[in-house]
Amino acid sequence: MATLNESFFSVQGEGKFAGVPMQFIRFYGCNLDCSFCDQPSALATRPQKKFYEQQDEEIAELICRHALQVPVCFTGGEPTMQAPHLISIIDLVRRMDCQKHGITASQFASSTGMEYYLPDGAERLFTIETNGTIFIPELSMGRCAITLENGRHGIYLSMSPKFDVPDRLLNFKEGTATPKITAFHEREVKKWLQSSVPMHLKFVVENLTMFEAILDWCDRAVPAARRGQIALFFQPEWFQGRLEFKKVMRKWVEVENWKKILALGFQDVRFACQMHKDLAVR
Ligand code: SF4
Repeated sequence: MATLNESFFSVQGEGKFAGVPMQFIRFYGCNLDCSFCDQPSALATRPQKKFYEQQDEEIAELICRHALQVPVCFTGGEPTMQAPHLISIIDLVRRMDCQKHGITASQFASSTGMEYYLPDGAERLFTIETNGTIFIPELSMGRCAITLENGRHGIYLSMSPKFDVPDRLLNFKEGTATPKITAFHEREVKKWLQSSVPMHLKFVVENLTMFEAILDWCDRAVPAARRGQIALFFQPEWFQGRLEFKKVMRKWVEVENWKKILALGFQDVRFACQMHKDLAVR
């Protein structure tokens, strides 16, 4: 049984798919405890914690109940902490999608590595919002890295490395890198970055120093060959960071500064707020 915090249908409010209606599955529990976490009820460390258990099959059925191939957002908390359930739910949904499109169980089972092909336009997008601290090989290759007929992948990662990681929960022993991201955290994030999973990086920016440190980190951590494919999203810390963020954004959209970002090789760089928060929707 997976441990969830909540599930609901809404519109994605941030990142590359902002504005896209999605089914959200929010896993309970996280291995970090960020001060700015906007989902405290998904954290075991917070008084407002809220959780329930649900069978993977029931979650898959919930996702498939929509007539359309609604994209899914697995979020949290940290969904990769429950990797076996995450993988199992994706497999179950794919099976159900195949049945819906007339792909028989034996065709499905005989296809190598559980790859399957849905008709163009019928593919389902699985997005995973993660802090990047737990690399899952099955999601980066093989059975879960879905290669669709039109060449698009069915799994998309919204990875948000954290720069004020408290060591106490992660129990990392390897010291910290600047500004505070730990060596272990960075090593796991790099495994994701070196994989071929389509993704964007999303950073919560609290001030100018942090923004510059994040750019330095991107230059160090993101392989040059991936920079043209990985979008960078910068967003304000929700509770109190908006004024600071405005200053950061104004400074960096000056042409000379913008050129410095582009010189790093990233072609898709965006400053964006969390739309759902402004609109006060879930
Ligand atoms: S990694 Fe995300 S879910 Fe976990 S504590 Fe930080 S902001 Fe919250």
